[in-house]
Amino acid sequence: MIAVVKREATESQVKNLIGWFEKQGIRVNESKGEYCTVLGLIGDTTAIDIDLLQGLDIIESVTRISDPFKKANRKFHPEDTVVDIGGVKIGGGNFAVMAGPCSVESEEQIIETAKAVKAAGATLLRGGAFKPRTSPYDFQGLHEEGIRLLIKAREATGLPIVSEIMSPEQLPVFEDIDCLQVGARNMQNFDLLKALGKTKKPVLLKRGLSATLKELLMSAEYIMSEGNPNIILCERGIRTYETYTRNTFDVSAIAALKELSHLPVVADPSHATGKVSLIKPMSMAAIVSGADALEIEVHNCPKKALSDAAQQLTPDQFTDVMDAIGKARSII
Ligand code: PEP
Ligand code: MN
Repeated sequence: MIAVVKREATESQVKNLIGWFEKQGIRVNESKGEYCTVLGLIGDTTAIDIDLLQGLDIIESVTRISDPFKKANRKFHPEDTVVDIGGVKIGGGNFAVMAGPCSVESEEQIIETAKAVKAAGATLLRGGAFKPRTSPYDFQGLHEEGIRLLIKAREATGLPIVSEIMSPEQLPVFEDIDCLQVGARNMQNFDLLKALGKTKKPVLLKRGLSATLKELLMSAEYIMSEGNPNIILCERGIRTYETYTRNTFDVSAIAALKELSHLPVVADPSHATGKVSLIKPMSMAAIVSGADALEIEVHNCPKKALSDAAQQLTPDQFTDVMDAIGKARSII
């Protein structure tokens, strides 16, 4: 249920009202906007008398919300959330590009790539140190050494880092990482989501391979319900019967998620398509559809990449994509 409080209500009136809800065992999510305050009521609201509430002087309107996701819901929090990753803001009109290799492979590779993506205009560095591979015989990442090299690359370029965490036990290793990515395969790893909810670290939450938007939002809800509001949702393509592309890029998910939720949305055209040639047009499509950020895989020498070689851009190709991103941004 949401109760919209009139602009002229005083702080103490709102406080009293919140106290009244809390006495009835209802948790209140307060969102102060420019024109009104929205109180999101979470819990069993069946006992609340809507007519009584609606009759209060300070109440503008009351609506029952049947969506199972509450904290992530735009109805509860009409204004865009802005997530700050090491000083780089995403959402609410702030746009960012996170770029870098699929996997961190060596010091030379990550530092060269980080410098190249920064020169092309990326504002965040991505790179996997712990890799969730389909085959246990494939390269699994450099683990702690990969994290150490990412930190070196941040020192060399100033770019904050995004890297994938696979289990709650890894949290101490990620202490100095700016944004924790939850990969598609872990979108419903509820123990991981709950552990991330107990931190204040920005979380980039990827849509599962076959997850609906509601399931993605419920996973965000797991993190938020533990107290961490710093979440960025990611559309990275879903499984369909199409085999030409690695996944099917659900462009409509970007606009739909922005409609359903106040959380920023990042699009990942690299995993969505799996093809270098499609990264530029899909980046543009994502921007026009309202994406707050893009995550793009770039490698200083893609031919030698130990994972996702077919989709990683060279620094020159990335520079060309950044140019197209600038053009797409100028028309929205
Ligand atoms: C990645 O970002 O390298 C990755 C493994 O992505 P996803 O979880 O979307 O497959
Ligand atoms: Mn990858």
